[in-house]
Amino acid sequence: MESIYESQILSKSSSRCKKGEYWTVTDVEIHDENKIKVEEHIGWKINSGNCSFWWDDWLGGATLANSTTDISSLNNATIAHFLVNGKWNERKLRLQVPPLLIPSILNTKVQLVKGVKDSAIWKITKAGNFTCKSAWEICRKKKDTTIINSQLWHQHIHFKMSFRLWRAIRHKFPTNETLANFGVELVKCYCCIQQGWDEIEHIFIQGNFAGHIWKFFADSLG
Ligand SMILES: [Zn+2]
Repeated sequence: MESIYESQILSKSSSRCKKGEYWTVTDVEIHDENKIKVEEHIGWKINSGNCSFWWDDWLGGATLANSTTDISSLNNATIAHFLVNGKWNERKLRLQVPPLLIPSILNTKVQLVKGVKDSAIWKITKAGNFTCKSAWEICRKKKDTTIINSQLWHQHIHFKMSFRLWRAIRHKFPTNETLANFGVELVKCYCCIQQGWDEIEHIFIQGNFAGHIWKFFADSLG
């Protein structure tokens, strides 16, 4: 049984196949970490009971295989295998399932719909449909919001300007201090009568041209 996560994001790999064949160790670690995070949010709507009894998280919380060491990854018993006339076969359950899990399973009501495959539900979205955006929100590592970043990437500031300012703050312009790292010969600016070094501080604050701009806006703001 293929989960929506595996079918839509990780179609070329799963925890039970190909691991390490094309990926580095770090890739596999990140993959496993993200897979665990995402699978927590996948539920199952049981129809004909064809999803994996042991390996799909249809009960909520975790797969049943996680609760026992006796189940092989090759055990592909379906939910239907544990049903009789649409009801749980308690005798069969008690032969294989850890006792603590039996009440939860018996309390799970199943309304069989013959001929319709069980379907995965993405619990994050209202409609239950999987979206890469919502999966990314779960997996991504969020950093704390800083005042500078929240003001820099403001909805009322054009992206081009925000990006330019971001480059200035992060020293991403090809100015002297950056080019010096590549062994490029330093040059002086073209904005001042007494030329200064073409560095970020000079271009945006200390140079004549920068001074003129700052003065213009400072004057207009009083
Ligand atoms: Zn200058």
